[in-house]
Amino acid sequence: MIYEVKVNDLAEEFGVHRNTIRNWINTGILPAQEGPGRRYLIQWEDYQRLCNKYGREPRFIPDPATPGESAAAPRLPAAASSSPVRLDVKANSLDTPLDLINLCLTCGSCAGACPISGVDELDPRKIVRMAFLGLEDELVASSWPWKCTLCGKCEVVCPMNVEIVQLLRRIRALCERDKVPAAIRKGVVTCLEKGNNLGIPKDDFLALAREMGEELARTSCPGFVTPIDIRGARLLVTVNSKLPFAEPEAMTWWWKIFYAAAESWTISSEFWEGINWGLYAGDYGAMRTIVKRIIDNVERLNCTALLLPECGHAYYATRYALERWFPESLQQFRIYTVFDLLLEYLNEGRIQLDPSVHTKLTTFHDSCNYGRHSLEAFGHGYFEEARTLTKACCKRYVDLVPDREENYCCGAGGGAWADPFGAERIYHGRVKARQISVSNAKLVVTSCLNCRDQIRYALNREFNLNVEVQFLWELVANALVMNSPDAMEVRHD
Ligand code: SF4
Ligand code: SF4
Repeated sequence: MIYEVKVNDLAEEFGVHRNTIRNWINTGILPAQEGPGRRYLIQWEDYQRLCNKYGREPRFIPDPATPGESAAAPRLPAAASSSPVRLDVKANSLDTPLDLINLCLTCGSCAGACPISGVDELDPRKIVRMAFLGLEDELVASSWPWKCTLCGKCEVVCPMNVEIVQLLRRIRALCERDKVPAAIRKGVVTCLEKGNNLGIPKDDFLALAREMGEELARTSCPGFVTPIDIRGARLLVTVNSKLPFAEPEAMTWWWKIFYAAAESWTISSEFWEGINWGLYAGDYGAMRTIVKRIIDNVERLNCTALLLPECGHAYYATRYALERWFPESLQQFRIYTVFDLLLEYLNEGRIQLDPSVHTKLTTFHDSCNYGRHSLEAFGHGYFEEARTLTKACCKRYVDLVPDREENYCCGAGGGAWADPFGAERIYHGRVKARQISVSNAKLVVTSCLNCRDQIRYALNREFNLNVEVQFLWELVANALVMNSPDAMEVRHD
């Protein structure tokens, strides 16, 4: 039995350099004849002897159905293939081809850029290599895809454009559901069963929303009424369940901006959450269901625009799902980012901002989802918009280095704020902490709840940063110049 083999394939199989294989051939350790197309012809017995010598199971086995076969390539066992990259077996995975894995040069740039590389032997280069070799079970069983924040810093530096984040998302998707970190799994299940991640009952949410509206009317927005289920409102706005649960006043920053901009907007009484942990869990069925509920709300309330102000991942997951599964919806309504909408208000003169209210040296932390992930998936990363808005609210501004597409993750992305790997999250965040520290900024502005909490609570405490952290819309709300109610046409009461 003879079979044809490429030097590169054998080198991969035995984990050695291709020159080593050539040396084995040249010195007779591996008897082989040159064959067509830069391949070598090897006797099965010689190949088996080599496997025995290095303690490996033969990856190629003779076809028992053709015992007399000669001068032909042997059949591969069912588990292997000529292209072992096969992490695409889930029909519902976030699917782009993984072919580019084959192009990996093993240069290690990804490992050098990854803030968590080396922790528990996590190494993006190794992950790519294991995927290439078909070590899917080992990858799925590891904790690496959950300790990785899916930040994409590794991808930015990869000279071969290997889609490392896509690979890691796919490994998450292949994980048995009971192996998904419990908090993430619970968030998804609760959202599917009760309509929001924290299972807040409808009546409690509505009562709180109305109460917060009354408070806003008393303090700064006379006549304000929380608009719930307003049919024909222009803009449907989702809510992050962490806000009504833990800091309900944070909901009113957006409400104040809408009031000042005389926006026609509404919240839905059903399925008001925009958070979508299906993206984190690799559960694309859940992701699709949650987005479909939002689409149904837009249609039911006859809105023409949607804002998901919770977090970068909510925007990314929803926009991705709209483009992937519901493209016709994008013809029916517009999906805004927080940046698009605030800039629209500013550019149209619907809001005025007073930068003198923020005097601290201020910086902006780019979220991975609004930044490089949106750039890659949708063709536009929200870098400059964030700076324009921040500078409109603050007198003194400084950028972090590096930033924009090359920014470092805060350490809490990809569900890491919720998962059990707290020490790894802090370790990852040390790079962000150092960036902030050397910038001398005393106010950090961000567009994600997870980024805000990681920097405000975890990094401040662990690295003595002593910085204030605000949402972009909190910053804007605090800098608003409020016109008299008579000057504004309040359309939502
Ligand atoms: S940076 Fe790209 S080419 Fe280099 S080792 Fe990582 S995945 Fe491979
Ligand atoms: S943590 Fe970021 S840089 Fe590291 S492997 Fe994951 S996506 Fe790549």
